[in-house]
Amino acid sequence: MIDTEEEALKLIQSKPEGVLQSELWKLLDIDSRKCSRIVKKLVDSERIDRIEFKSNGVKTYLLKAKRSAVNPSLLLAGGELIPCIGCEEECTVQDCNSLMDWIYQLAIEEFTEKE
Ligand code: SF4
Repeated sequence: MIDTEEEALKLIQSKPEGVLQSELWKLLDIDSRKCSRIVKKLVDSERIDRIEFKSNGVKTYLLKAKRSAVNPSLLLAGGELIPCIGCEEECTVQDCNSLMDWIYQLAIEEFTEKE
């Protein structure tokens, strides 16, 4: 069941607009009761939201993946916040000196932590 649960989660995460529960069991090629159990586990573990929805007059649920909060420490290198946050420059990632400097700081930090 874990594999199907992970498969269901990945499928739901791949659709930002959400997936109808009445469609999910067909997409996973499982029966609707098994699908309900999987959905309940995903809701209980707070990995998805289940929102009441009517499709052609029939009640079902719209399933949407929850976004997990980003660990703020992952956005810091050398005490500096990643420059992309709030950046208003025309972005060409491969030519961006600000980002390269920040990545360099990150590499130095990781190197010194390993010593
Ligand atoms: S890569 Fe450079 S230009 Fe692009 S958003 Fe980040 S800081 Fe701004």
